Amino acid sequence: MMSQHHLMLLNDTDDNYNKWGQRKTSQLLYKSFVFTIVMILVLILMIIVFGSKPSISPPRISINNCSSDYNFDYYELALRWPASECFEKSCLKYTDMWCIHGMWPTLWNNHWPQDCCFERTFNVKNLEPIVSQLEKCWQNLMPDQTYDSLWRHEWMKHGTCTKMHQFNYFNKALDLYNSFAVGKWLTDHSIVASNDVTYSLKSIHDAIDESFGHKVQLKCIHVNEYSLIDQILICLDKTSFSPIDCIQADSCRSGPVLLPKTKS
Ligand code: 5GP
Repeated sequence: MMSQHHLMLLNDTDDNYNKWGQRKTSQLLYKSFVFTIVMILVLILMIIVFGSKPSISPPRISINNCSSDYNFDYYELALRWPASECFEKSCLKYTDMWCIHGMWPTLWNNHWPQDCCFERTFNVKNLEPIVSQLEKCWQNLMPDQTYDSLWRHEWMKHGTCTKMHQFNYFNKALDLYNSFAVGKWLTDHSIVASNDVTYSLKSIHDAIDESFGHKVQLKCIHVNEYSLIDQILICLDKTSFSPIDCIQADSCRSGPVLLPKTKS
């Protein structure tokens, strides 16, 4: 027979056990509640941080990835000599003539605006009436690139910053190119393409000064001990497109320079 005392002890133990169980359950409920709240907050945070971004990154140059700084002081009409550019690398077919590289809006501090937002697409269809002329004197030389790749590059990087419409930009550059007989300026002073004869920078500047009447900027590429004349930059007033003197220094070494002949 259990005594009264024993019964009371048993009841007390049951009570304690029930209370302990209730406390455990409410602790568990509380932890689950806190965990759920934390997870909801994390989820909301993830939606805010990642939810608005597309899963694929946008193309490198898009309407949102362009400059609205159109400020420039003058134009540089950059003419290039393919035989220099192709002296060491393989190129598509070219002849010994000065060709167009680009028409660049430029600042006097030798910086320039680029990749502007204006008409930020290139469509070769816009150039249909002048494509055959462009192919003759503004051609792509790179074997792995499309025939219109240089036009596209020049338009996107420089043309867009002129705020000229696409056809007008290319047509203007062609007109200017046709009005400057660079080859003749040089041959009239016996400066002809050769892989043997070199010229002094001064003799080339003198020839151009005498024929053209304005200072140009000469650019060279350097192959071993040779300086090859690679580009002639003609500077132009930004509104009238009349020639003005270039003030930037040449990029050629001071020694003799070569105007290489096309390798046959
Ligand atoms: P810029 O960016 O100064 O107007 O021109 C230099 C760029 O023109 C270089 O990135 C060079 O790769 C590119 N370029 C030069 N010649 C050619 C060419 O014949 N075809 C193409 N597609 N790009 C050229």
